[in-house]
Amino acid sequence: MRSPYLVNIAEVMRRAGSVQHVHLAEPVESIIDGDPRLDPAAVITIDLQLESLTDGIVVHGTIDVPWDDTCRRCLNPAAGVTHSDIDELYQQVITDPDAFPIEGDQLDLAPMVRDAVLLDTPQAPLCRPDCAGLCPTCGIDRNEATCGCGEPPADPRWSQLDGLRQALEASQQSDPAV
Ligand SMILES: [Zn+2]
Ligand SMILES: [Zn+2]
Repeated sequence: MRSPYLVNIAEVMRRAGSVQHVHLAEPVESIIDGDPRLDPAAVITIDLQLESLTDGIVVHGTIDVPWDDTCRRCLNPAAGVTHSDIDELYQQVITDPDAFPIEGDQLDLAPMVRDAVLLDTPQAPLCRPDCAGLCPTCGIDRNEATCGCGEPPADPRWSQLDGLRQALEASQQSDPAV
């Protein structure tokens, strides 16, 4: 079966400045396999404008796809929509190191769409921007309840520094030359 991401650009390449629109709505599984943040059946909505240059095609537009994950602070479900703003270049003869290749009369949107979605989907999502997270001492969800644990213990980096200072003082005391 022909990939829906292959776009024939013979027509738009005929004259520089020509524009072609591409609208696609394809399931995640058509290009991304086994990413726990993305439901294989979720739809990737692709809305692009291809504009020909003398030496390639500029692709502008947007890609949207819903994601589903776990909040990194409170471990409750977190969900949202990945929105990518696209501004990419395709070239027949690659002179720009960031350009994607044009092969014959075809431009394959799949690698570009895949890169954008994977890059823009959050790695460490929050259920909401001000999520209070779990209490590090008792584990209570601080979005839902308050506990009596008070402030968390001092930053371990400071206690390491304290330990270093104590060791230094001890060595100075035991060294007869000081
Ligand atoms: Zn949360
Ligand atoms: Zn607590």
